[in-house]
Amino acid sequence: MAKILLVEDEPDFTVLITALLASDHHTVEAVDRGEAAVDLLRHYEFDCLILDWNLPGMSGIEVCKHFREGGGRTPILMLTSRSHVDEKSAGLDAGADDYLTKPFEVKELSARIRALLRRPTAFSGKNLRAGGLEMDVANHTVIRGTEVIQLLPKEFALLEFFLRHTNQVFSPDTLIDRVWLAGEEASPETIRTYIKRLRKKLDVEGQPSLFSTVHGVGYKFDSQA
Ligand code: CA
Repeated sequence: MAKILLVEDEPDFTVLITALLASDHHTVEAVDRGEAAVDLLRHYEFDCLILDWNLPGMSGIEVCKHFREGGGRTPILMLTSRSHVDEKSAGLDAGADDYLTKPFEVKELSARIRALLRRPTAFSGKNLRAGGLEMDVANHTVIRGTEVIQLLPKEFALLEFFLRHTNQVFSPDTLIDRVWLAGEEASPETIRTYIKRLRKKLDVEGQPSLFSTVHGVGYKFDSQA
């Protein structure tokens, strides 16, 4: 069973695809705008994305590009009514994993989704490695060598975000926006405290910290540290 985000503006397709995926025992979240998808992807993890190419406002391909540029690794299936080869390659260039032209057989969609979900780590991002750490996202564990490092849930979530976006500087406000849920109390001081705790738990004595502070800007995780 997988959690799938469907972005489709035609209600008939939404109903059809949602019913099909539900009969395959998947959980489907459906939105009809690219902007709404981007917003959800900021806060939630999905196992697979189905993006319609033609959407009002932000297009499917723009959502795909934006998501990949932000470090998102979830497999993406693009739906389109176009069948030109150059547009297919544009979709793949933007980071889509597969491509299905409308109209399609429901069995075909079902098979494509199964194939994407079976795909090992490359884009599914279950295990993240950087800075000598290995994170198993599914099992909520972090190890260095043979040592298991105990993290509280929010420490884990913050570290996961940094491991997905290594060597990029994020302001405290951005980190709050991306890692904390709406309604959860957090301030730049909260972030400072969490970074301090992560350093204490993760840094190796005598070696540079995994987290750099960029004064007046924010923090980054150094994959080479
Ligand atoms: Ca459409």
